[in-house]
Amino acid sequence: MFPRARHAKRFATASCGYDASQWAETRVLYRTNSGRLASGLGTRSRRGANPDPTDPSEPASAARSLTRLRAAVAECRGCDLWETATQAVSGAGAARADLMLVGEEPGDREDRQGRPFVGPAGRVLDDALEQVGVRRSSIFVTNAVKHFAFMQRGKRRIHRPPTADEIRACHPWLEAELRLVRPKVVVCLGASAARAILGRPTTIRRVRGAPVETPLDATVFVTVHPSSILRTDPPDRDAAMRALVEDLRTAAAAVGA
Ligand code: SF4
Repeated sequence: MFPRARHAKRFATASCGYDASQWAETRVLYRTNSGRLASGLGTRSRRGANPDPTDPSEPASAARSLTRLRAAVAECRGCDLWETATQAVSGAGAARADLMLVGEEPGDREDRQGRPFVGPAGRVLDDALEQVGVRRSSIFVTNAVKHFAFMQRGKRRIHRPPTADEIRACHPWLEAELRLVRPKVVVCLGASAARAILGRPTTIRRVRGAPVETPLDATVFVTVHPSSILRTDPPDRDAAMRALVEDLRTAAAAVGA
């Protein structure tokens, strides 16, 4: 399945715990028309995070818990990001949540602590959620890519966006989280998350504020990544934050719709 034997061997030791029927259900989640997500499931076996999801050799004793899933992700060698990252960072929050937020990838702080959105962008997100009246503990927060992608500059690790191949390689883990958490509403935070969920590049300003059509059994919204607020010049920062809050408010309202 894997081009590099060491990856295959490492992966074989991971408690992936998803059998053919579970992955088949996941594929149903992505049923429909031929988007790259749906077709990608059949092509990731060359260099993806998981072998063919319908492979009958998958362990019959499939794990359904997020705890088992995290253990599997921690052992993943589906792309090269694990080699330089400190650890994998899986999603966190309520195991069954109506609202799931999907970010891009762990940042420097998240990579060190092993939890998503605990750095500066996480503080922006917490602030926005508080303004909307949503408790972080009541939702599920994850990333499209589970290992930190960065460039080393001296002692500093400079974030870089994940490549399309890295997003694709990591997608089975995101699918598995979606399958377990079963959110009614998914919010893509930024372009990488949108690419992971929608299966195509997306211009955020064109689609934010209204549901985006997808094959998912969930209502999907796209907005900016909270880190973009930090990069916005101070004169415009308040307006950018208000727009993020408004997008999250719209998504939260859709949960009860
Ligand atoms: S980024 Fe994703 S696909 Fe790549 S090694 Fe980490 S968990 Fe596996």
